[in-house]
Parts: sequence; C-alpha cells; structure tokens
Amino acid sequence: MPLLAVLGHPVGHSRSPAMHSAALAELGLGSDWSYEAIDVAPDAFEARVRAMPGEGFAGANVTVPHKAAAIALADELSETAREIGAANTLVFREGEIRAENTDADGLLNALPGSPAGKQALVLGAGGAGRAVVWALLREGARVAVWNRTELRSRNLCEELGGNPVSEPDQAEYDLIVNSTAVGLGGEDPFAELPLDPGRFGAAQVVVDMVYGTEPTALLRAAETAGATAVDGLEILVQQGALSFEIWTGRKPPLGTMRAAAHG
Ligand code: NAP
Repeated sequence: MPLLAVLGHPVGHSRSPAMHSAALAELGLGSDWSYEAIDVAPDAFEARVRAMPGEGFAGANVTVPHKAAAIALADELSETAREIGAANTLVFREGEIRAENTDADGLLNALPGSPAGKQALVLGAGGAGRAVVWALLREGARVAVWNRTELRSRNLCEELGGNPVSEPDQAEYDLIVNSTAVGLGGEDPFAELPLDPGRFGAAQVVVDMVYGTEPTALLRAAETAGATAVDGLEILVQQGALSFEIWTGRKPPLGTMRAAAHG
C-alpha cells in the first residue's frame, strides 16, 4: 500500500491532502494509496525523510520551509530542481531519494498562454520567486525581478538571469507575478509591494502565488481593471497534478483536484 504525504512546518492549512486523496479516489486507487500531511520541524526533516521509504512511502511533496533541505539530502536531482535550488517533490525508489521541482511547470501550466517574448515582472526572490524566474526565462520571457531586500534579487539574477529592478513601473509589463508571501497574513499588497491598484490594464496577466479561500486583494484589483487574474490555487493544482503523475504514472484528474483544492 504506497503512502504519500506533504511535509511542511506548519502544514495544517495545506490543501494537498484533500486534492490528492480526491484524485486517488477518482482513479480507483483510494484503497491502495493514501496521502497525509506531516508536520516536521526543520531539525527533524532529514531523519523523517530518510525513514519514509522503510515505512512504505512512495513519495512526498515538500513545502515551506523544507524545499532547499530536500535538495541537500537527495541522491538524485532533476535538472529543474538542481537549477532552481529547491524541490517540492520527492520520489522514493529502490533505496534512492530523487528530488524534482514541479512548481516551475505548475506555474507555466496555470498561465493562459505562453510567456515567450513577454515582459514579465516577478515580485519576490525567495524559493517561489526562483522557480518563477527560472520557468519564465526558460520559456523566453524577458524578466525583471523586484524584491524588498534588493541584495536577494541581485543575487537571484546573477545566478539565474533576468534583471533586478528597484522601482518598476507596473504598466510596462505584460505579466506580473507576486511570488512574495505578502497577502498570506492579510497584509495589504499595495502597501508592501510596488503596485498601484488603479494601474493594472486589461491586456495584463496578473498572478498571485499566495492563495486562500477567497481571491486575494491583489487579484481582485487586477480583475476590476479587466486584467486576467491567475489564482495561486490553480498553480497549486497544476504542480500537484505533475507530482501525482510522477508517483502514480496515471493521468491526473485535474477537475477533481481543482474542486477538492477549492474545498
Ligand atoms: P520565502 O522563500 O520565505 O520568500 C518570501 C518572499 O516574500 C521573499 O521574497 C520576501 O522578501 C518576501 N516578503 C515577505 N514579506 C514581505 C513583505 N512584508 N513585503 C515585501 N516582501 C515580503 O517563501 P516562498 O517559498 O518563496 O513562498 C512565497 C509565497 O508563495 C508563499 O505565500 C507561498 O505560500 C507561496 N507559494 C505558493 C505556491 C502555489 O502553488 N500557489 C507554491 C510555492 C509558494 P525578503 O527577501 O525581503 O524577505
């Protein structure tokens, strides 16, 4: 009976157990496979992961704050995970731990079209920001990166590419991605980020990696301006679907996963 889990700290708010359990049930795998949330503190992460194959786990998702630690302990890395420097998916096979990153392709799959040739503004230079910048550059977008702590955006761009910006003009961009944690704790995005709610345009695509039960203030303002808004929950669904396929080898039932993620 293969087991799956999401490892995080905290992890109680995660929609992944509901989403993956619904997908397993939909494909008739629910009596064999199961998916649970495991709260593990950073100092216990490595020992917990190393014990999992022996306990019957086939794989795991990894979320905040363990995505870099997952890279450090893996025996084998996908090229994407290695280049981004973070993994959100672990696979346990024949005694080896393989680390993958499905956040990057999850973002691309959630976009309404290809970002090739588009001007993109990425806000944030943490783990999510790195995956977003990497994905957009790979697809041929021109990427500007803003971060509250400028040293981090400069370092990110030196490593992955893109241009650091300190005072971006939001009207210049086709695609704007909030990959900071702003909004997660109810912060006002227009106080913390270099964005003005009145300056979005109908031709823009605005993505908020942050998600909750309701659309964020950032996405509401973008929608009011007629922009195309992409909810972080859809990115969660898309990255989860890619992980699901890696573990089970089955085509993920996206509609079922989306409905379960929305609760
Ligand atoms: P992280 O590595 O801790 O990075 C946090 C980022 O947020 C940094 O760029 C940080 O800037 C910035 N930040 C935090 N508070 C801020 C504030 N008050 N004003 C301006 N910037 C602020 O976290 P992460 O892993 O990148 O995750 C970021 C967000 O993306 C989280 O909300 C996470 O839940 C979400 N996420 C969603 C998905 C999805 O599937 N939808 C996937 C991955 C992540 P400094 O460098 O200046 O501290």
